[in-house]
Amino acid sequence: MKPDKCEFCEGGMEYRNTLVRFRYKGQTIYVEHVPVWVCNHCGEQYFDAKIYKHLEIIARQKERIQREISFPLATFEMVAA
Ligand SMILES: [Zn+2]
Repeated sequence: MKPDKCEFCEGGMEYRNTLVRFRYKGQTIYVEHVPVWVCNHCGEQYFDAKIYKHLEIIARQKERIQREISFPLATFEMVAA
């Protein structure tokens, strides 16, 4: 079901297949090619209930995930004020 507009900034919504971050029981996974509503202004993502269920099933089968990605982790203090 299409959200009318973004809850945060009232931007317009677009349906896209994208990379999403999904948090489930204290763990975070990233899932590619997920169809979600995305705010075209702030980028907030909205999952349909059906899609959310699907992501939960994926998160529960974590041992089947074969690839990992990593990100640089910086601290805000690394630049002197
Ligand atoms: Zn927004």
